[in-house]
Amino acid sequence: MGDLEYSVLVDVYEKVERTTSRTAMTEQLVALLKRTPVEIIDKVIYLTKGTLGPDYAALELGVAEKLALRAVAQALGLSVREVEAVYKKLGDVGSAAEALMGRVKPASILDFLGGAEASVSRPLTVSRVFDALVRIARASGPGAQDLKISTLVALLKDAKPREAKYLLRTVTGRLRLGVADMTILDALTIAFTGSKSARPVVERAYNVHPDLGYIAKVLAREGLEGIKRIRVTVGIPVKPMLAERLGDPREILEKLGGACLAEYKYDGERVQAHKRGGDVVLYSRRLEDITSHYPDVVEMVRSHVKAEEAILEGEIVAINPDTGEMLPFQELMHRRRKYEIEEAMEKYPVSVFLFDLLYVDGESLIDKPLPERRRKLEEVVEETDRFRLAKSRLVKTPEELMGFFEEAIAEGCEGVMCKSIRSDAIYQMGARGWLWVKLKRDYRYEMTDTVDLVVVGAFYGRGKRAGTYGALLMAAYSPEEDVFKTVCKVGSGFSDEDLAKLPQMLEPYRIDHKHPRVVSKMEADVWFVPAVVLEIIGAEITLSPMHTCALGKIRPGAGLAIRFPRFTGRYRFDKSPEQATTEQELIEMYKRQKKVRVAA
Ligand code: ATP
Repeated sequence: MGDLEYSVLVDVYEKVERTTSRTAMTEQLVALLKRTPVEIIDKVIYLTKGTLGPDYAALELGVAEKLALRAVAQALGLSVREVEAVYKKLGDVGSAAEALMGRVKPASILDFLGGAEASVSRPLTVSRVFDALVRIARASGPGAQDLKISTLVALLKDAKPREAKYLLRTVTGRLRLGVADMTILDALTIAFTGSKSARPVVERAYNVHPDLGYIAKVLAREGLEGIKRIRVTVGIPVKPMLAERLGDPREILEKLGGACLAEYKYDGERVQAHKRGGDVVLYSRRLEDITSHYPDVVEMVRSHVKAEEAILEGEIVAINPDTGEMLPFQELMHRRRKYEIEEAMEKYPVSVFLFDLLYVDGESLIDKPLPERRRKLEEVVEETDRFRLAKSRLVKTPEELMGFFEEAIAEGCEGVMCKSIRSDAIYQMGARGWLWVKLKRDYRYEMTDTVDLVVVGAFYGRGKRAGTYGALLMAAYSPEEDVFKTVCKVGSGFSDEDLAKLPQMLEPYRIDHKHPRVVSKMEADVWFVPAVVLEIIGAEITLSPMHTCALGKIRPGAGLAIRFPRFTGRYRFDKSPEQATTEQELIEMYKRQKKVRVAA
């Protein structure tokens, strides 16, 4: 099998580190790729990127520096303290090893010169280095540390000083040559086709199968013809399509040709779900494998996607288990853990909102227009409470778009995604383009004060809250009309004790129809005579077409809503419903709210 000396790679690394020109960097890589035997071309590419495989399946390299220093000490027959002293001066394990090895001969050479137990030094090759790094990355459980050190020591004993430098940077996850994927694609195209003209073809293959090692092998072995045969494959993540951003609904519609499919832009984690029979793999926006974080999502895909094979895209959103309301993105952090995922799953449940279908039962859909992909998605997905299609609406005017946008914000979304529905609206892999345009807010407003609102209705609880109420429908008072107008559904902030006593406390006011003094667009499960007043705080006051408070007073068709409302724990028994916060007060609070810039 063909191999290459590791020192050849090191030559290139040194040159790449010195160069300031991207062209020169590409030329170095072209020369390297040309002399690399095809059997190991993938290894050469992964090593140059400081990894051991494609991002979506890479073994993690990241030996602790302390461990690396111990290996250096052992290989050179020095004390850890001596090695550490040099490391402290130079600030990098690689440079420290290089400097020390220039002074001290590695143990194997000493052995050899001394004639005792001669273990003859063999030059390092790419395969040997790569395989050893894989062994190190895979080592786990008891004895893993020893195995890592002994493997590293064996390599170091055969390494020249400058090889040791890069070896140690690689093994500690600090080889930062700054060679981007796009530079490698350029170099591959030039090395194997003679010019850059086929670059778009190669890049497309890379978007479909984002594994540079694989692309290199196919290109080296089968040329461009092989590259053109690369297809969307279940199990291999596709580079996600990205959106441009505009702030003006009119401009968005003009860009998209006068009409578009507007979808809620959910505030969660993007997921690309790959299903083959009962096997499901989940990939993140960055194409990391996140399957282990979401066993519940895996189960949803397994049970509710009616296809043998499919690749779907959607957003995973954290929800309040008791009310089904969406929670801010940060809540998903609790799912990024290795252990006790069952417990996290129960405590921090999620919903999935699907928005695209890239492949189904043998058919790739990436070149089909969005309306067709969306139609097929509807066919394939069996919707449930927790697994459904992203809410969408066909809009043709800026007013319709703004109305939908406000609904999205009031429901806890970040804005809307406006998607082209024309015949050229393909799934643009890996590209940020004008087929998708996001409309987000530049500002969020901050609700600084609490309000006192009247309970006018309730929704039955689910899960842990079965048997009590999951959320209450809250209203503000309008003295002019002597009615109560809704502003939010609140399900957060209630203690278990609150929840236990709510039905009993509200029972005397329960009626079987909406009270005549209540103005609501929402249909509650249970209605009450306006009587009980609760103190509520929220993240901000927004416009919303779903609530009746201030309806049409600020913008036609829109009322006011409290976003992410929470019960403060204070029952205002001292207040009569007519003493609750008024519609006018809310309008003033809305206008006075402090603008806070949203981090882009
Ligand atoms: P980008 O992903 O465009 O680089 P970003 O990481 O800053 O930008 P956002 O600006 O928030 O993310 O917008 C894009 C993200 O919105 C998508 O990657 C996806 O996770 C999310 N998203 C939510 N709802 C949708 C939807 N209906 N269609 C497409 N993407 C959606």
